[in-house]
Amino acid sequence: MAYKPEKPSIHGETPETLGERLVAGGHPRYRAAQIFEWLYPKRVERPELMTNLPAPLRAWMDENYDFEATSLVLRKASSDVTQKILQRMRDGSLIETVIIRAPMEGVGQEKSRRTICISTQVGCAYGCKFCASGLEGWKRDLSIGEIVSQLVQVCRIEDKADPTRAAEGLASFDNIVVMGMGEPLANYENLLAALRIVNAPWGFGFGARRVTISTSGVVPKIFKLAEEPLGFRLAISLHGATNEVRNQIMPVNKKYPLEELIPAAKAFARKHGRMLTLEFILIEDINDSLDQAKRLAVIARELHAHVNLIPYNKVEGLPWVRPSLTRQERFVQVLRGLGVTATLRREKGHDIDAACGQLRLQTEKAEASGASPPPAAA
Ligand code: SAH
Ligand code: SF4
Repeated sequence: MAYKPEKPSIHGETPETLGERLVAGGHPRYRAAQIFEWLYPKRVERPELMTNLPAPLRAWMDENYDFEATSLVLRKASSDVTQKILQRMRDGSLIETVIIRAPMEGVGQEKSRRTICISTQVGCAYGCKFCASGLEGWKRDLSIGEIVSQLVQVCRIEDKADPTRAAEGLASFDNIVVMGMGEPLANYENLLAALRIVNAPWGFGFGARRVTISTSGVVPKIFKLAEEPLGFRLAISLHGATNEVRNQIMPVNKKYPLEELIPAAKAFARKHGRMLTLEFILIEDINDSLDQAKRLAVIARELHAHVNLIPYNKVEGLPWVRPSLTRQERFVQVLRGLGVTATLRREKGHDIDAACGQLRLQTEKAEASGASPPPAAA
């Protein structure tokens, strides 16, 4: 069921839609450009801080728009390079956003490359057998404003760590990966509208090539994404190199088996002339055999794709096991031996429940059992 908030989120607006509403409310259309300047480069929290706007317009915005479609409830830093952020929306639903820092030589931690992993739905209907997000099913899609607000909130946190970028009005992250909770291509219209705002010069001015959308394999939407003028990157969560293995852990494969998924991925790669990523979670005795590695190599070569191997992250209540380091290494060596570029992810943030959807699930369970809510974010 779609959730209808009391007021629309200001972060869901474009110059056209905001301009229309301004005019209807008796304000000049040109104010829209000034408002966007405050919303993205300056990232202010409330209309009263938009000091070059007349008081009646600020009051009008307050009355008509929600400025905090998502708000921070919890921040968990890991001992390595990951920070997990839990945000609450107006209907009480929780979503996760993760900041991953890739340390760079010669620069301090505050200047390291930052990737933001965002969510697109509350829960997920796709029910992959290894994933915490799918455990309790799908609750709802995020709105355009909620997706954008997630990023704005993260920028506000990061601005404190690196005020120089904030002062220049730049986004405080280097890459966006749409790999958080939910199946992005099942909330296609809202996601694309949000990413267009992120990309727009009046928004974050953030290049499409620095955005990666991850899908479990919603074939018709992959074809649709291939036709988009903005060239976002695509990652496919493969997790099995045969239908037999994929069917066991990913129900989506029954609807869109490999013989449909691979041509869709190929069409996307051809259209955008760039490399795809194949994500492959390694789960002991499920998909980590040498036979799977060889078959995965065939697919990766056919698609000219890079393979990202992710050692399975333990999810409470699920039976799966992460393969030993030796088995993980052996798998990656087989791929490389067959000419495939592959990385074995040293998994980041294991100690803060980094696997998709786990922090949200734990918090919801604690709240349902009457435990006190998590402390407010610092
Ligand atoms: N629905 C999309 C994007 C979100 S899932 C998709 O499936 O691609 C985000 C990523 O987290 C996916 O690559 C998913 O496979 C991975 N993931 C989910 N559960 C995991 C677990 N227990 N351990 C490691 N990675 C996991
Ligand atoms: Fe949904 Fe992705 Fe999790 Fe599968 S892996 S249940 S598609 S979020």
